[in-house]
Amino acid sequence: MTKQQEPRALIVIFGATGDLAMRKLYPSIFNLCRNGQIDENVAIIGAARKPWNHMEFRQRVLESISNNLESDESPNAFLSRFYYQQVDVTDEASYKELHHLVIDLEEKYDTDGNRMFYLAMAPEFFGMIAQRIDRFGLKNSDGWTRLVIEKPFGHDLASAQKLNNEVREAFDEDQIYRIDHYLGKEMVQNIEVIRFANGIFGHLWNNQFISNIQITSSESLGVEERFHFYNQSGAARDMVQNHMLQMLALLAMEPPITLDTDEVRSEKIKVFRAMRRIKPDKVDEYFVRGQYDRGEINGKQVVSYQEEHEDLKGSNTETFVAGKIYIDNYRWAGVPFYIRTGKRMAEKAAKIVVEFKNMPMNLYYDEKDKQQPNLLVINVQPEEGVTLHLNAKSNKPGTQAEPIKLSYLYNHKSGMRSPEAYEKLLLDCMLGDATNFTHWDEVALSWAFIDSVIEGWKRKKPNFPNYKAGTMGPDAAHELLEKDGFHWWPIKDI
Ligand code: NAP
Repeated sequence: MTKQQEPRALIVIFGATGDLAMRKLYPSIFNLCRNGQIDENVAIIGAARKPWNHMEFRQRVLESISNNLESDESPNAFLSRFYYQQVDVTDEASYKELHHLVIDLEEKYDTDGNRMFYLAMAPEFFGMIAQRIDRFGLKNSDGWTRLVIEKPFGHDLASAQKLNNEVREAFDEDQIYRIDHYLGKEMVQNIEVIRFANGIFGHLWNNQFISNIQITSSESLGVEERFHFYNQSGAARDMVQNHMLQMLALLAMEPPITLDTDEVRSEKIKVFRAMRRIKPDKVDEYFVRGQYDRGEINGKQVVSYQEEHEDLKGSNTETFVAGKIYIDNYRWAGVPFYIRTGKRMAEKAAKIVVEFKNMPMNLYYDEKDKQQPNLLVINVQPEEGVTLHLNAKSNKPGTQAEPIKLSYLYNHKSGMRSPEAYEKLLLDCMLGDATNFTHWDEVALSWAFIDSVIEGWKRKKPNFPNYKAGTMGPDAAHELLEKDGFHWWPIKDI
């Protein structure tokens, strides 16, 4: 797909009264309008069951963007593009009414018949809505029609396959935009640029020079109100199958021959194919799971996972995962990619550390173990930046070299904020650029990988809880690296 289309579109948001729409989608659309990236040829229909009219809906949208509004800024022109249609997605009559509004607004906003259907709803509705959009003629237009699907895309490979079949009955693969919002993050998109625009990394990016790569995404929050969903899912499904493996694919893929969607995706898919599948009976050699106990976060006592709600008592759901993944190809043979993610950890951060192999001999350190390897640190959040750890001359007596850091913080570059992930992804979808959305083959291969890990876990009851809230996970997560002669680099001040 090229990026030549104009962003003219009618956006229909199913689940328009929900949390995601309010917290992420409306503020993102507002920022796109304010930056002039979308203009008067874009209108939005919110669809949900609540009996709101257009004015009530606009009032809610206004509340959702109130933090973004400058004191002297009028939101009226922006809000006037929002329309509401009461829809029960299980009721067929709703789609006919929605269709009438779509046709009216298309003419009014001269959208060339381009339609984006955004499913910000519980996953059990995805297949049904896709099929009914098709059956009730909402796909019939002179422009493009695209379907944006939120996560989770399935619960395992079998359910993802079933969902994909349902969606594919109504939409072609190139019309389906599966959201992984990590792919919209500035620094995740920067992985490719850092790798492929810098000889110093490009030439060293392989098993001859890199000893290991660490990817961490940690939360200090607990499960909060999503506990019901989370308890059925757990960290492996909620974070690893999608966000963590997507970052891994970007770090490990071969340079694509162009930046076109198909080329980038095909390189990522090869990484997923080369990931060493972990046999269920070997899972403990490669993966560690954890669940948080009581502990202290920012000086405050917090309860254990099982105490968060009475329904969680006795739960075997993991709130932490650490894993070692090998990519069995020519570039990466022998290099472990360590991932870890969890809730109620010491800090909220997402960070990638690329650890380079030490010099075979280093004359500048009196004690060998004081020598620090060169590190490339990509800070994904909350800070966005890149830090390179080098060794340089020390002026302290007794040592001749010491580690130094070269840091670049994006947020400080221009004083400008980076666009929100959803902002970029919504615009990409309107422009027909699916590069930062996941192809079905990526989804299927990553589920196949995670399914065998979960299958191994099912065979043995975990000894939960096994890490204190406010720490970086269970001891076994540290031992996983120690066995290989490595350790987790800290996530703070690195
Ligand atoms: P939510 O707050 O529960 O919202 C669900 C929406 O669906 C509401 O607008 C609800 O509105 C509507 N709805 C429910 N049943 C309906 C029906 N029969 N017909 C029409 N509308 C119906 O959920 P959410 O947190 O926004 O999540 C939406 C999706 O995004 C989920 O797939 C979730 O996994 C994904 N997601 C959410 C987040 C997040 O931060 N919230 C992050 C990542 C992914 P009415 O009650 O008015 O009908």
